[in-house]
Amino acid sequence: MENQGILVYLESTDGQILKVSLEAMNAARKLAQLSGKKVGAVLIGDASAAAAAASYGADEVLTVAAHGYQPDRYTDILTALCERYDVSCLLLGSTRDGKELAARVAARTGSGCISDAMSMTESGAWVRSVYGGSLQETVSAKGKAVVTVRSGTFGKPELDEGRTAPVTAETVDATPLRSVIKDAVQELSESVNLEDAEIIVAGGRGMGSAENFQLVHELATLLGGVVGASRPAIEDGWVLRNHQVGQSGKIVAPKLYIACGISGAMQHVSGMSGSGFIVAINKDEDAPIFEVADVGIVGNVTEILPLLIEEVKARKN
Ligand SMILES: Cc1cc2nc3c(=O)[nH]c(=O)nc-3n(C[C@H](O)[C@H](O)[C@H](O)COP(=O)(O)OP(=O)(O)OC[C@H]3O[C@@H](n4cnc5c(N)ncnc54)[C@H](O)[C@@H]3O)c2cc1C
Repeated sequence: MENQGILVYLESTDGQILKVSLEAMNAARKLAQLSGKKVGAVLIGDASAAAAAASYGADEVLTVAAHGYQPDRYTDILTALCERYDVSCLLLGSTRDGKELAARVAARTGSGCISDAMSMTESGAWVRSVYGGSLQETVSAKGKAVVTVRSGTFGKPELDEGRTAPVTAETVDATPLRSVIKDAVQELSESVNLEDAEIIVAGGRGMGSAENFQLVHELATLLGGVVGASRPAIEDGWVLRNHQVGQSGKIVAPKLYIACGISGAMQHVSGMSGSGFIVAINKDEDAPIFEVADVGIVGNVTEILPLLIEEVKARKN
C-alpha cells in the first residue's frame, strides 16, 4: 500500500462485507477523488472477502490473521498498519466495533477522530448530525483522521466484478491483551439484519400489545421485509432488543419504512430518517412522525394494518 494513502477497515460476517463498511469504502473513494490518494482495504481474521473488496473499489487489499474480535488485538493491528503506511485517513463503518476501534486507534496514532460522518464537503471535511439529529456540524481533522461512516448515508459503491487488486498478507506482532472477550452468547437463534434491509415494518407503543404486534410481523413477512421497533415496544417485551431502531438501537436506511403506532420522537427518527420512503400510521394527526413521512395514514393500527395485509395478499395472488 502506498504511503499516506487512505485505509478502510472492512468488517465482514461469513465472508460478506457489511453494507456499512462498503459505504465507508464509498466515502474513501470520494476522498480519493479529491486528494488523488489510493485506497487500501484491510480485512482482519476472515480474508475471504478480499476479491470483493477489490471489486468494490480497493486499490490494494491487506489481510491480517486474527482469531475472533478482541478490541486490544484489532486496535494493535489497525494502529500498526496506520503507522506502517503513514495512513492519512482511516475509515470504518459506524458499528459498535467500528466506533470502539476508531476512538482507540485515533488516540494511539494521534489522529483526529470523527464519528458518524454522513457526508463529505467539497473540501474534504465531514458532516455529521449530533444530539439525535437536532444539529448538523462540519468537522475536519488537523492532520491525520480516523472517521466512522454512518449507515445509510454514503451508499454502496458500484460493483465492478472485473476489477482486481493486489492482496498482501500483513503480520502484526501480538501483544498481551488487557481485556479479553471470553464468551459471546447469542441471545436468539433469529438473526436480524436491519441495516441491510430494503423494507422495514416497525411497531411502537401504539401497537398496544404483543398480540397486536403480530400484525407488524405479518406485514413484514408478506413484504419480504424485517421487523423494527421503537424502544417502548422492546421494553414491553413485544419484540427482542436487536429489532430496536434509533439513537440507542440501529441506524437504518431501507427503501421503505412503515412506522406503525410510533410517535416520531427524535431518538427514533434519528435512526430511520435516511429511509427512502416513509409511511406512518398513527391515530394522532399531530404526531411528529408525520413530519418525516412521505405518506401519512391517520387511523388505528389495529384497523389499518389488517386492511394493508389483506391488500398485499390480494395483490400477491
Ligand atoms: C437516551 C435515549 C435514547 C433513546 N433511544 C431510543 C431508540 O434508540 N429508539 C427509540 O425508538 N426510542 C428511543 N428512546 C425513547 C424515545 O425518546 C421515545 O420515548 C420512543 O421513541 C417513543 O416510542 P413510541 O413512539 O413507540 O411511543 P410513544 O411516544 O408513546 O408513541 C406512541 C404513538 O402511538 C400512537 N398510537 C397509540 N395508539 C395507537 C393506535 N391504536 N393506532 C395508531 N397509533 C396509535 C400515539 O398517537 C403515539 O403517537 C430513547 C430515549 C432516550 C432518553
